[in-house]
Amino acid sequence: MGLLDAAVSRQNVLVTSVDSVLNWARLSSLWPMGFGLACCAIEMMATNASNYDLERFGIFPRSSPRQSDLMIVAGTVTMKMAERVVRLYEQMPEPRYVLSMGSCSNCGGPYWEHGYHVLKGVDRVIPVDVYVPGCPPRPEALIGGLMKIQELIRMEGLGVSRADALKKLAEAESDP
Ligand code: SF4
Repeated sequence: MGLLDAAVSRQNVLVTSVDSVLNWARLSSLWPMGFGLACCAIEMMATNASNYDLERFGIFPRSSPRQSDLMIVAGTVTMKMAERVVRLYEQMPEPRYVLSMGSCSNCGGPYWEHGYHVLKGVDRVIPVDVYVPGCPPRPEALIGGLMKIQELIRMEGLGVSRADALKKLAEAESDP
């Protein structure tokens, strides 16, 4: 939806225009935190490299949680690491987003049944906005997940909460 469309459809030219411009700026300059936990991180690094070139979407990894607005949890979250993941998440400024990449981060993956040392889903300790399935997901799948995060940001606004935007996103996906 373009800026003008957004303004007309919501019947509030001033507020929705500012809203749309801010959202456009935020989604066009997403800064994920540059860290990985296991094998999924190799695919994440490949996505950042020249072949897939994430920068063309305005997505550029940062070295500090304080400069990041997106956490990509790429890999196995061990019990020992879960505490660090939470601490890094808490150090990110709001609004912040979380993308869970791969089966391990989504639900424990191959460690689901017998991996006593692995957290069975990072959403047990931090809120997750988008899940990307796979073991590991290919770079195309990660890019698809990142585009969902961008779509989520586009839908959010002064009158639309994160929960409402997530609901709309799920509805849009289930609509054939
Ligand atoms: Fe490795 Fe598969 Fe777990 Fe990713 S989901 S970290 S590829 S075992």
